[in-house]
Amino acid sequence: MTLLELSDVSVHYGRIQALSGISLTVQEGEIVTLIGANGAGKSTTMRAVSGLLPLSRGTITFDGQDISRLRADLRVVRGISQAPEGRGVFPGMTVLENLEMGCYSRKDRKGIREDFERVYELFPRLKERIGQQGGTLSGGEQQMVAIGRALMARPRLLLLDEPSMGLAPQFIRQIFRIITDINEQGTTVLLVEQNAQSALSRAHRGYVLESGGITKAGGGRELLADPAIKDAYLGVA
Ligand code: ATP
Repeated sequence: MTLLELSDVSVHYGRIQALSGISLTVQEGEIVTLIGANGAGKSTTMRAVSGLLPLSRGTITFDGQDISRLRADLRVVRGISQAPEGRGVFPGMTVLENLEMGCYSRKDRKGIREDFERVYELFPRLKERIGQQGGTLSGGEQQMVAIGRALMARPRLLLLDEPSMGLAPQFIRQIFRIITDINEQGTTVLLVEQNAQSALSRAHRGYVLESGGITKAGGGRELLADPAIKDAYLGVA
């Protein structure tokens, strides 16, 4: 089933056109990754899906319904939740308070308890640091809080923008393993990554963005084996 569909989507920042008529789909249960150079429009695509940027053209459909003009907070209620680039952890709040921000609009106390358990199972480190202030966590730990907070909304679609950015190698491996775990537990994932090798090897499908347009689409492993992609994004000819 198609969970998310972007159809001919354009986005402008003032007069600058950041996306020019892109179309893509995410099927329920998939990990789909967007790769592309700096400035290609990856974060813009994510912000258009989460509702932080208005479309200048095109439509976004989620679970069969047009959400193109729906407010960002109502998209969260529908099941779209984003762990933003740069993490966005509230520095003066504890780990627990940060996680609670992810589920403030939910009323199902039993479900919330289950999701806390799930987040602590995925990130045992957060359980150990539950009372620590966000601003004093390491970069990797802040990334865990950002992903955990997004999961606390119990999303059907999790948007991850550069989850490995700035992390030490052992954390990078861990974050990618956790993304696969989250997906295997039933959450659909749309992932933006500079780390194209790791992202494509874990994704069911991928899209290549160049200067605001999609230039290639295919299976994760298929794109990984593509000589032009190897050359441009994987650092090996
Ligand atoms: P990166 O990996 O560097 O974050 P990206 O693929 O995520 O790149 P975007 O951040 O989506 O790229 O940017 C796409 C284009 O839109 C770029 O040309 C960028 O300069 C421009 N852009 C992004 N944000 C703004 C803004 N707030 N105002 C004006 N232009 C912007």
